Amino acid sequence: MKEHTNLPRLSIASLGGTVSMQASASGSGSGVMPKLDCDEQLAKVPQLREMAHLEIATLGLLPSASLGFAALLEVLAWARGEVDRGAHAVILTQGTDSLEETAYFLDLLWPFDAPLVMTGAMRAASQPGNDGPANLLAAAQVALAPNSRGRGVLVQMNDQVHGAARVRKTASVAMAAFESPGCGPLGDVVEGVVVYGQPPGPREVLPLPHRTEHRVALLEACLDADTALLKATATLGYEGLVIAGFGAGHVSGSWSEVLGHLAPALPVIVATRTGSGPTATASYGFAGAEIDLQSKGVHMAGRLCPRKCRILLWLLIGTGRQQQLHGWLPR
Ligand code: GLU
Repeated sequence: MKEHTNLPRLSIASLGGTVSMQASASGSGSGVMPKLDCDEQLAKVPQLREMAHLEIATLGLLPSASLGFAALLEVLAWARGEVDRGAHAVILTQGTDSLEETAYFLDLLWPFDAPLVMTGAMRAASQPGNDGPANLLAAAQVALAPNSRGRGVLVQMNDQVHGAARVRKTASVAMAAFESPGCGPLGDVVEGVVVYGQPPGPREVLPLPHRTEHRVALLEACLDADTALLKATATLGYEGLVIAGFGAGHVSGSWSEVLGHLAPALPVIVATRTGSGPTATASYGFAGAEIDLQSKGVHMAGRLCPRKCRILLWLLIGTGRQQQLHGWLPR
């Protein structure tokens, strides 16, 4: 193959997920599994080699629910190394199930102006109309666009570009599965051109965690829930707790009482389980509402969804910065 020496260097790695999945040779019934390595995924998008000099790595063949923080730190080390070696941008393909979490995790630790663009697919590589190749092509267009620089980690799905802090998978199987509730996508890919609504804003990045063995629990408040699991978080050794609360960030009176005992000992965040909108800070006065919770030392999540709160808290504890938690929660 002809070598294009003057093309920008683009590093692409795959971690697994539906974008890499195929049905087994034995036919239907057993379901699709991760099979395609990064080379095989890229073979379906020959245009990429005309756009950039590609560096390719297969870093995993996992369904994205089985990724973990340790694996992500290894992926990050690879991606940072690629930029240090001159990559203009980096693309990661992975499963969509945990993409909203992995993107935020990596964004909090991504120190470059060079874009890190993440993408995947909703239809497996062996299904008709699979969206993996189109998403990969659009991800490369995003990664190479000068106006993508300085925006941290971006999620490209379905010709939309989402910011890592707000993107969420809001549909289980639909092709248009990703949204940024309350603010919409940062941009669109139109005829191969990336159009952003706003210039990049300021970014704050954390150093790499020096501790990784700690654990942060995430529990959802729900009707008539007992307090057994909530109380257990302290005795089970969790060092942080996130509650996906009702409405504007509310829990029951009995949960509030337990949180009042937990909050002096470990950081507790209450977010909203609704999927959209901020938590309140000064509206409701009942036991379990935001005024009561804050008076007990509980942090309100603002616009950060519960799952991203857990990522943030884990990284803050890992870098010894849990005292700075309040400043990291966007209103
Ligand atoms: N729908 C998911 C995907 O897009 C399933 C598997 C996974 O997240 O790895 O990849």
